[in-house]
Amino acid sequence: MDYFPIFIDIRGVRCVVIGGGEVALRKAEALARAGAAVHVVAPEIREDLQQLAQVSGGGVLLRGYQAEDIDGARLVVAATDSNDVNRAISEAAVARNIPVNVVDQPELCTYIVPSIVDRSPLVIALSSGGASPVLLRLLRERLERMFPSAYGELARLAGSVRDSVRQAITDPDGRRRFWERVLEGPVAEAAISGRPDRARELLDAEIAAGGAVEDRGGEVWLVGAGPGDPDLLTLKALRLMQRADVVLHDNLVSPEILDLVRRDAERIYVGKRRALHAVRQEGINALLLEHARAGRRVLRLKGGDPFVFGRGGEEIATLAVEGIPFQVVPGITAANGCAAYAGIPLTHRDYAQSVRFVTGHLKDDKVNLNWPELAEPGQTLVVYMGLVGLEAIAEGLVAHGRDPRTPVALIERGTLPGQRVIVGTLDDIVAQVAATEVHAPTLLIIGDVVRLRDALAWREGDVVTGPQRA
Ligand code: SAH
Repeated sequence: MDYFPIFIDIRGVRCVVIGGGEVALRKAEALARAGAAVHVVAPEIREDLQQLAQVSGGGVLLRGYQAEDIDGARLVVAATDSNDVNRAISEAAVARNIPVNVVDQPELCTYIVPSIVDRSPLVIALSSGGASPVLLRLLRERLERMFPSAYGELARLAGSVRDSVRQAITDPDGRRRFWERVLEGPVAEAAISGRPDRARELLDAEIAAGGAVEDRGGEVWLVGAGPGDPDLLTLKALRLMQRADVVLHDNLVSPEILDLVRRDAERIYVGKRRALHAVRQEGINALLLEHARAGRRVLRLKGGDPFVFGRGGEEIATLAVEGIPFQVVPGITAANGCAAYAGIPLTHRDYAQSVRFVTGHLKDDKVNLNWPELAEPGQTLVVYMGLVGLEAIAEGLVAHGRDPRTPVALIERGTLPGQRVIVGTLDDIVAQVAATEVHAPTLLIIGDVVRLRDALAWREGDVVTGPQRA
């Protein structure tokens, strides 16, 4: 982070603007809106700016700037059209430890003013640190659309009853849930749609009920986190991630994604080692149950989709038996994520009329699959957990009649930074993979569709190994 963002209280505080033109006016207006006593210094000052300074409780000095003008100021803005004067102001402010902003000269600033979406008392401040003003503007436009102006109304309403809610609902978790219910439910709806009286009425009813019938019911959210790229999370996943009290996660959930979970949610790592599976799975089921029973909102975050080779069904089966409420949120499964990011369509009218997801997991050192079915041409096979059994899989398919020249892609760390795709054929993929060091997780895509990658690979930085044309 190049700048440390803060909101600063300048109500009734001396702030100095040097310059008397239009730019100075805009800066002075912004300061005055936040309640500053604006003092303006310039040999000539527009009439409206003079007025603004007086009304704000500040004043004007109709003369050239002198260093002592900024004494005692909390903030200084230099908006003159002389570079020399601007530089002198900046130096004087730095010497006095007063934050200074020089319009359009970032190198002379010790603070910058963010672009804002003003829904006071709710204010969203944005900055690109000067990197891209246009990007910033586009983002702001989006936020403006996302938060209708009535959000200010909603924030004010919430603020007006904050104390009474604190008294009515003493448990902090219960209070947070209360607010989430209020701010996402009918109260918010009424406020945002411009019916403040109705909103108030509903809110009062909620407070009365919320205090008495405190909702201590825990629940579990079984959420798919996708294959790794945080941009591939669903909106629902993100929303629940930001509301959880505790999160249980494992190996496949990337740190970037975990970062998006509510900061003060407790994080429990339940990563599994292959050999300990059976025991650990029961342990996870028990943990889910325990936390939900304690009234917490439990996020069970799983890589990809929870219902694709994710044991999601087993985890919620226990909950269903015990009567614990739960939700299941799908995620982008590794097959979809890897296929898209490697430029390999899973089906294609000419090459593959169907696609199968199978697991290449070894049991007693064998891959147990229905070989005759899988060896049929005209289909794509996606193999999860297939690295250890790669040789057995390639041999099994060929032995049952699949063309040994059938292309195979092994996608390593699909959708993540450093994604790598190793391309070969059924008869040489083992050698291709043996020639390099491969890191988990990896996914195999087998079928003629792999050839389409020659034309469709699109991801920059995607490292390719092995012959492109199989
Ligand atoms: N529920 C998950 C799959 C869990 S099984 C899903 O829907 O994606 C774990 C296997 O998924 C790994 O062994 C690997 O084969 C595959 N996998 C998961 N994420 C992956 C990724 N980012 N890149 C490649 N393979 C991945």
